[in-house]
Amino acid sequence: MMSEWELKRQMCEIGRRIYQSGFVAANDGNISVRAGNGRYLCTPTGVSKGFLKPTDIAVVNDAGKQVEGAIPRTSEILLHLEIFHELDWVNAVVHAHPPHATAFAVAGIDVPSCILPEVEIFIGQVPLAEYDTPGGKDFAETILPYLRNKANTILLANHGAVACDSTLEKAYYHMETLDMYCRILLLSKEIGSVQQLPDQKVRELMDLKKQMGIADPRLDGDGELCSLSGSDEFLRGFSTRAIPQHTADSNGHGRGNGIAGLPSQAGEPQPIPASPTGPFPAVVAGRSIAGSSSTTAQRRAADDEIERLVQLITDQIVAGS
Ligand SMILES: [Zn+2]
Repeated sequence: MMSEWELKRQMCEIGRRIYQSGFVAANDGNISVRAGNGRYLCTPTGVSKGFLKPTDIAVVNDAGKQVEGAIPRTSEILLHLEIFHELDWVNAVVHAHPPHATAFAVAGIDVPSCILPEVEIFIGQVPLAEYDTPGGKDFAETILPYLRNKANTILLANHGAVACDSTLEKAYYHMETLDMYCRILLLSKEIGSVQQLPDQKVRELMDLKKQMGIADPRLDGDGELCSLSGSDEFLRGFSTRAIPQHTADSNGHGRGNGIAGLPSQAGEPQPIPASPTGPFPAVVAGRSIAGSSSTTAQRRAADDEIERLVQLITDQIVAGS
């Protein structure tokens, strides 16, 4: 067991990594560690995670009341305590705003699962908790259902992400894995498509996960193996291909749950795109997000502007002649 001083030093080191990785700006984000005997170490408010000193770290009790430290504790400690109280095996919590993951949280789109093996094993499916004003009890409680469903990494709508585990290093790694994963997803999308692993291969990963003793609701048969509501929105919003559902190509590669497929290596004819500007308008929960529909509108506005300029120049030439 590390001493409180060693834990504080580790919190400063993880804070530096979070800041240098660009997972937080300015004084954003917070870190906490369960120190035992009802004591929790947490980062102070108004101090950049990139420049923390061990003496800056605050100590709070079970209720979030500060018992040590010269600088007031983070205002988001209630979120951390909600996790510590709910999951007795968790000893560390990291909250940050990693840009690629937060982009999903802002778009209101679930991160699709069953794409990268390490992600399936170490963080699994990443739920998206509903938005509430940061700092309060209601905000802290938004993550409760997902904690009870064994998630160790949760997206916070229009805000950021929170990760937890038995050690601070593991909790930080989940944050790093999440943002790297989301970055790869966005890049793959830009290239053209996202390929999902076949169900059988995902089951093999679940077996590995079980052997490693990492919890996942899918191991108990809870929820779908490879689908989160809203994932299809991400996959549809930018794709210019028709999306085959539950089909396999002639090489036997499964296409999972509604993932746009790459052209088959066998070279057989591919589905014709439903429309050249993208098949579906991307609308989530009644709000429009950046996608094919707004791109079309922008293009139309640009065309109108060009037409207006041509007319203006023509009028001036006519007037001058
Ligand atoms: Zn935050």
